[in-house]
Amino acid sequence: MYEERFDKRKFDELRPMEAETGIIPNAKGSARFKIGNTEAIAAVYGPEEVKPRHIEKVNKGIIVCKYDMLPFSVPDRARPGMDRRDIEISQVITNALNRAVILEEMPRAMVNVRIYITQADAGTRCASLTAASMACADAGLPMRDLVAAVAAGKIGDSICLDLTKEEEDFHEGGATDVPIALLPSKNEIVLLQLDGKVTREELKKVIEMGKKGAMEIYELEKAALKRRFLNESKS
Ligand code: ADP
Repeated sequence: MYEERFDKRKFDELRPMEAETGIIPNAKGSARFKIGNTEAIAAVYGPEEVKPRHIEKVNKGIIVCKYDMLPFSVPDRARPGMDRRDIEISQVITNALNRAVILEEMPRAMVNVRIYITQADAGTRCASLTAASMACADAGLPMRDLVAAVAAGKIGDSICLDLTKEEEDFHEGGATDVPIALLPSKNEIVLLQLDGKVTREELKKVIEMGKKGAMEIYELEKAALKRRFLNESKS
């Protein structure tokens, strides 16, 4: 049984969040998204000429995305360099960004997206996607919508939003974790993964809770971008 959350949050409550854009002057677009003790920084370079040339697509652009969990982001020190987990997360983030960015509007071009996790306390792929989509918008890429992402899941019998690492590890055999990414204005899910066990009915509740959380994140993302463009038009 998990009746009260370790950090006293309600079961459908997100951790405290911060979002800002335009944090890396040399990048075309950049953003930082922090949720609890998880923080992602994203930088976007391009659109530019495709290198190596043979991966160029004549009728659309391509996104090359790298997720990097920095060694000092976790208590045990993560191994530097890309491991299998980093490669998998880079791929699912790319798949989701491919749905958000209108690639057809940038033929023969390439966009590089770099994501750095400076602190990890679960939910890093979702924080990465949120930061990366804000950075793409900050870079002025043509987009169908922002991506808002958060994990929901189950601990004991309780359906929970935005699990911490402590919560993920708490339940015997592990909690159930379901990262969800949404194009909010289209109500389109662009990433859905499941780590653990849930019934069909529970999964529906988990997805509903995740979507509601994503809508809150969406508001924060929009506010961060508005702040940036208002400041820019003033200067
Ligand atoms: P996500 O970060 O998207 O939830 P995982 O479920 O793979 O992805 O990881 C859950 C959490 O486990 C991470 O956010 C991080 O807190 C922790 N973690 C992942 N990899 C490592 C690692 N190599 N060393 C220490 N902690 C890690």
